[in-house]
Amino acid sequence: MQRIELDLHTHSVMSGHAYSTIQEMAEAARQKGLKHLGIAEHGPMIPGTCDPIYFRNLYVIPRYINGVRMWMGAEVNIVDYQGTLDLDDTYLARLDHVIAGLHRLCYTSGTMQQNTDAVMGAMHHPGVNIISHPADGTAELDLEELVKASARTCTLLEVNNSSLFPKRGNPVAHTLQTELLKLCKQYDTPVILGSDAHISYSVADYTYLYDLLKETEFPDELIVNYDAKRFFDFTGLTDVE
Ligand SMILES: [Zn+2]
Ligand SMILES: [Zn+2]
Repeated sequence: MQRIELDLHTHSVMSGHAYSTIQEMAEAARQKGLKHLGIAEHGPMIPGTCDPIYFRNLYVIPRYINGVRMWMGAEVNIVDYQGTLDLDDTYLARLDHVIAGLHRLCYTSGTMQQNTDAVMGAMHHPGVNIISHPADGTAELDLEELVKASARTCTLLEVNNSSLFPKRGNPVAHTLQTELLKLCKQYDTPVILGSDAHISYSVADYTYLYDLLKETEFPDELIVNYDAKRFFDFTGLTDVE
């Protein structure tokens, strides 16, 4: 199995429905040998998550904990068909990384074209680095269009381990994420694996994704988690404090 260097999509207690502190998450990352850990709390429209002021104060958090480089970002919500986000640019500019995604609680699914426009809008936002779980079935999307836009917009598409938890009972996510991987392979487009950990034990846990990677014979070189440099090269982010 390949060594995992980064997991940038995790949540701490501050998201309201997650169960570990930042220190606990960082310790789990150290134990798993990660170089980079991203904490990306849910944007303000998810019930129970932190207020916007939380995202303004992230500078107090050390960017190295136990030798792990910490990325303090957000998983913001795409809230309409133009791709409007639920945190404004002044907040986004202060974050280390920005993940944007569709969540049923904050987004009313439209036609495939409207949904695709919504995600495209977010991809074209210069501050957005990653689209979370585009293939989890939340809204019908033209995945091929998203894959084609990925390199052009320097925005990675995520395949998400949590979407495949058997208890979530979402077989569509299996089918769609397989389709997404096939398209990324076809277009030679890198992807990022996301644990979407809501507890420290799930940091960098990609258990359910490995079957899909095997099934699609997905090339290791297109997985940015296996080599952090690929992540920096693709997104244009730099590994400095
Ligand atoms: Zn999400
Ligand atoms: Zn998440």
